[in-house]
Amino acid sequence: MHLVNLKDSTEQVSFAQAVKQGIGAHQGLFFMDKIEPFTAEQIDSLLKLPLVPRSQQVLRHLIGNDELPELESIIADAFTFKAPLVKVDDTSACLELFHGPTLAFKDFGARFMARVLSAIIGNDKCTILTATSGDTGAAVAAAFYHQPKINVVVLYPKGMVSPLQESLIATLGDNIHAVEVDAPFDNCQDMVKAAFDDAEFKAAVGLNSANSINISRLLAQVCYYFEAVAQVPEEKRSHLVFAVPCGNFGNITAGLIAKALGLKARFVIACNANDTVPRYLASGTWEPHPTVATISNAMDISRPNNWPRVEALCQLMGWSLQDFAYGSVSDDETRAHMKAVHSATGYVLEPHAAVAHKVLSASLQDGEFGIFLGTAHPAKFKSEVDQTLGIDLPLPQTLAERMTMPLNKKLMAADFATLKSYMLDELKLAD
Ligand SMILES: *Cc1c(COP(=O)(O)O)cnc(C)c1O
Repeated sequence: MHLVNLKDSTEQVSFAQAVKQGIGAHQGLFFMDKIEPFTAEQIDSLLKLPLVPRSQQVLRHLIGNDELPELESIIADAFTFKAPLVKVDDTSACLELFHGPTLAFKDFGARFMARVLSAIIGNDKCTILTATSGDTGAAVAAAFYHQPKINVVVLYPKGMVSPLQESLIATLGDNIHAVEVDAPFDNCQDMVKAAFDDAEFKAAVGLNSANSINISRLLAQVCYYFEAVAQVPEEKRSHLVFAVPCGNFGNITAGLIAKALGLKARFVIACNANDTVPRYLASGTWEPHPTVATISNAMDISRPNNWPRVEALCQLMGWSLQDFAYGSVSDDETRAHMKAVHSATGYVLEPHAAVAHKVLSASLQDGEFGIFLGTAHPAKFKSEVDQTLGIDLPLPQTLAERMTMPLNKKLMAADFATLKSYMLDELKLAD
């Protein structure tokens, strides 16, 4: 696989190198400069396969035959849970991506990445530093827990993740270090970027980012778009629409890679009040506002770091940004939609899926079939879901147990120097 730094095309790396490095010079993202599509016949036969063998073929095609001989076994080991497409009404279905260990779609990318990384680092030292607005940290912590030679430092914004998300991040211990930052998510992300810009520090701790900057996470996510289409009856496959609840825009980038590979669908961008991209698509002006807290908090991001990849892919494929449908949904509209769908169909939407379904409903044309991504289990947003719908959603038992365990976290100001001394002096990650 051949990847190029989007900010400096002279920096070109292999898949393994990009996974290890995370991000390129000048904070440039690595991305493909070529995608070889499957033929229509190949797509048809891929769609007949089960998840694991199909994903092995899709990712082998993307990564190529020269790298990662362990790929097939890594996929078999990482994708051990289902991604069912569950009908909600006559024209839409939810791709439920929340049946993994932390009940969020990020389990796919994080589990794949953890295994890829441990296959390629050999005896090198490795520290994962990741900023999370909720589910990334939980999924990464679970995926890397007890991995030998790998330490994980998770930064999350104080007061902006749910108690359940926090307990998933901060109750593991061992090689998982939870840092609560007294600032919004974007500041956490800035601290991560500053760490990667400090070449000496980066080398000393073997720094690696496991958030959606890392190309391996995106590649894993490509697989479930194929899994979704494979579950749609053939007569409904010709006019498919994917609605993706967007935060950092990693999930939708993966969907667009699937489209570039030959999966036929159009894409709908769904945001909450953090609507930098919808406003950009409407006006042509990139103008991030300060991040605001919403009930769909994993999408509380006003400077989405995967957006350059979306633009690069559009350029590569000759797609126009004008072809995206998009929308942003307020908290009040999200709650009203959760209620409306629950009373009409009985289906329980958590806030992120509700944002996606709401924007999908507004965009869907006659004859189209819509798939919206269920990115988290409703129980992960239990208090909001219970209050809005007047129900008492049971918490899966493994999560209920985690909620009772003591938190082990470090509170910190949004300052890179403080983070650096914590990692070097307190955790001794460079020794
Ligand atoms: C991370 C996350 C999102 C946003 O996904 P991106 O890839 O960052 O766009 C949406 N919903 C949930 C529940 C998430 O955890």
